[in-house]
Amino acid sequence: MILARARVGGAVLLVRVEGETLHVLEGSLFAPRDTGRTVPRASGTFLAPLRPGKVVCVGRNYRAHATELGNAVPAEPLLFIKPATAVIGPDEPIVLPPQSRRVEHEGELAVVLGRTLHEATSSEQVRAAIGGYTCANDVTARDLQKIDTQFTRAKGFDTFCPLGPWMVTERPGATASVSVRVNGQSRQRGSLGGMVFGVEELLAFISQVMTLEAGDVVLTGTPEGVGPLVNGDTVEVEIDGIGILRNGVQAR
Ligand code: ZN
Repeated sequence: MILARARVGGAVLLVRVEGETLHVLEGSLFAPRDTGRTVPRASGTFLAPLRPGKVVCVGRNYRAHATELGNAVPAEPLLFIKPATAVIGPDEPIVLPPQSRRVEHEGELAVVLGRTLHEATSSEQVRAAIGGYTCANDVTARDLQKIDTQFTRAKGFDTFCPLGPWMVTERPGATASVSVRVNGQSRQRGSLGGMVFGVEELLAFISQVMTLEAGDVVLTGTPEGVGPLVNGDTVEVEIDGIGILRNGVQAR
């Protein structure tokens, strides 16, 4: 099932996407009910599928990406947080901040929590707490990340967390590809099977540190091939089984 938030006319609607039709829903993203109303897909603009409570991210979770930045693969997941204010939806611009001379794309699988997860002890418990999956771009000011050691400034600028174009409830296949294109040219290409720590392991690990709540989002790391974004670029993150998250890039 494909669930989305869409602006239709002046209203923001929760919808189920089926081909060229949007089925209008009521309730929430995690307990949706059909209203029987439909609108044509072409009449809507997709927004970020949700405004997360928190966005928990995992660094260096693909071996070749850790290596390309001169880092070792960590023995335990390396966690950091992006603020909810960084989130934008599909087709909204990524804004390059004047503080950075090197902003880069990181295409990633994002896992959306549908229920609370606290000190998980089994994969079943983790899976039951997952509400869905979407594409993310963990936009990063690489120069500031190197200067600061910790990641808050480099990862936390407004517009540095595009999510979308919608949320799918079924997990992409274990070897589904994650790819990033800039202006149509391939930059990153990896397989979800290349993660050092898998989805269940990551969420269980995070839940030993902090309670994950419905509406929280976990970014699972990026494959190799990260590279710069400049004013005027168009960046696409595509994950098989989800779709394409597309954003323009502009100078502030
Ligand atoms: Zn990342």
